[in-house]
Amino acid sequence: MAMHRWADRALLFLFDPACVACQAPLTDRRIGPVCGRCWSSIHPSPSTDLVRAVGIYEGALRNIVHALKYGGHASLAKPLGARMRDAAGDWLDDATVVPVPLHPWRSIRRGFNQADLLASALGRPVWRALRRTRLGQPQAGLSAAERFRNIPAGTYVLRRLWGKRVPPSVVLVDDVITTGATAEACTQVLLEAGVERVRVLTVARALRRT
Ligand SMILES: [Zn+2]
Repeated sequence: MAMHRWADRALLFLFDPACVACQAPLTDRRIGPVCGRCWSSIHPSPSTDLVRAVGIYEGALRNIVHALKYGGHASLAKPLGARMRDAAGDWLDDATVVPVPLHPWRSIRRGFNQADLLASALGRPVWRALRRTRLGQPQAGLSAAERFRNIPAGTYVLRRLWGKRVPPSVVLVDDVITTGATAEACTQVLLEAGVERVRVLTVARALRRT
């Protein structure tokens, strides 16, 4: 984590800083790698009883998520976490947050799990309850039906509790929700573990293609 922050800073100093979402020159390096215009261009996402998100997965927000996941800009977890707190409203008052896990190989390759960074930025207790057992195909580019087939039963399992009491209310955290297949698989495991209420908080919500 500390290393990522350092690398993030170094990138800003070594090159002419440009916004990672729109490439416009950054006039103020202190605001981080995304310009103010991009932050304010995010289209809010309508919330449901079970899913809340900062915005729609398009435009600047899509680029920001990519910069977090693939561009090494782990420092973006902090401003995104602040916006997720706003989107979550009262959900976070009493909930424990659970990040959607990556398969360990993918975490090692990427160096971090973006969902874990986001969960840690929410200011609530983090419970790393789940483990991903199967690598699976990356979800991007698959149809809705293929995504559900891509997550066979047993893909997500509960980690050993080591005497930990299962919290009654959990907010599951991920970067993007598309069909909800991943969220549903994780929710099922948490409910079976004895969690009474699971709600889903993400940075972005992809609009379903019909
Ligand atoms: Zn920008």
